Amino acid sequence: MSGGRIARPFDAFRAAAELARKVERPGQRRVLRVGAAGACGNAVTIYLSGCMLRCIHCWAGADRDAPERFAAFCSHRELLDRIRLFRRENRLSAAEHRLRLSGGEPIVSRQSLQLIERLSALPGRLFVETNGVLLGARPGWMDRLLACGERVFLKVSLKAGTAEQFERITGAGRSAWEAAWRCVARLHAAGAAFDLNALSLAPALFAPRERRALLDRLDAISPRLRERLQEERLTGYPATRLRMRAAGALPGKPVESIKSGPGA
Ligand code: SF4
Repeated sequence: MSGGRIARPFDAFRAAAELARKVERPGQRRVLRVGAAGACGNAVTIYLSGCMLRCIHCWAGADRDAPERFAAFCSHRELLDRIRLFRRENRLSAAEHRLRLSGGEPIVSRQSLQLIERLSALPGRLFVETNGVLLGARPGWMDRLLACGERVFLKVSLKAGTAEQFERITGAGRSAWEAAWRCVARLHAAGAAFDLNALSLAPALFAPRERRALLDRLDAISPRLRERLQEERLTGYPATRLRMRAAGALPGKPVESIKSGPGA
């Protein structure tokens, strides 16, 4: 791993509270766009704006850090109407009724759960890409999502095998890293429908010992969790390249342009 974080880690929970004030109002959420995507079986994807983390490999655009400048508020009701229209206009069959929340982090406050619950009431299955930080820290929120049953499928993006690596990659302090692991442990204990991904095949992000630490941590929860883990390489999205160069993690060398589907 080359390059490194120099700034003091920030508090991801405080950042989430600030973010929620920017991207949520009662019954509304800032949304960048709605469209089809190849991920999750060509799911209709709602790209949300804003995240409480600052991952150096993040593919989201400038709206991640300044959602108030780039994304408009959309009411939950309007969002549901847009999804129904999208499905109708594109003549999607019932078998293609997949939805996906991506872009920024979908779970930034308790109110985020309302949107997920409303979307999960639509026909089909809802895939939620999350960093797992707030879900791990708020068991009651996790319980609400678990109550949605298999209509909601969580895709948890693991950022690091060690706390130091997490700070270096996301800029956030280790309490967020520990919370993300609690999220994984609770999902496993509940027998929930979920999977995991990590950019653990990207040498610019994961040193061998950090990948080993991530796998060991999974094994400590349950060896069966490895079956849920999708290890990924890094895709050279424009925003990814820019951020990694700025962080000194990409010294002139092109990022491997091999398939990847980074989550939240
Ligand atoms: S990669 Fe995901 S968790 Fe990291 S900053 Fe981007 S949206 Fe947030």
